[in-house]
Amino acid sequence: MTARVETLPAERTGLVTSMTRGFLGRCPHCGEGRMFGRFLKVRPNCDACGLALHSHRADDLPPYVVIFIVGHIVGYFILELETNYDVPLWFQLSFWPVVTLGSALALLQPVKGAVVGLQYALGMGGFATLPVRSVAVSPPEEPQRGQSDIRSPGLGPA
Ligand SMILES: [Zn+2]
Repeated sequence: MTARVETLPAERTGLVTSMTRGFLGRCPHCGEGRMFGRFLKVRPNCDACGLALHSHRADDLPPYVVIFIVGHIVGYFILELETNYDVPLWFQLSFWPVVTLGSALALLQPVKGAVVGLQYALGMGGFATLPVRSVAVSPPEEPQRGQSDIRSPGLGPA
């Protein structure tokens, strides 16, 4: 006899854990499956727990957050160099675009993952329902056999 399988509702992961898992490119629900199939392409489902990732609505928030972060950091250091040091113009014109582009590309995927984790933790859009968890339950005890199942030694075919 095979073990009976029961489905139980899974618990939603907390906000900080979900966003951290997303930032690291992992599924916000289980933390094991990978979130991205390509650079910014979110996988349709988590290959570990089955969470539907395709229903996220990150849209324009990740690039907006990346521009906000990179703009503040790069802008601060450009201003700092320009006001306090005598830096040649060719350096400013060649160094900062490379730093800006590199840090923006490096942050885009983690920030998008964190945004998807945020939407998951808040139950937004397609994350309102969670995948069900399967738990194997031990089979029930065999019922007592009735008298008809017991064969008497002398009554078998001759
Ligand atoms: Zn998962």
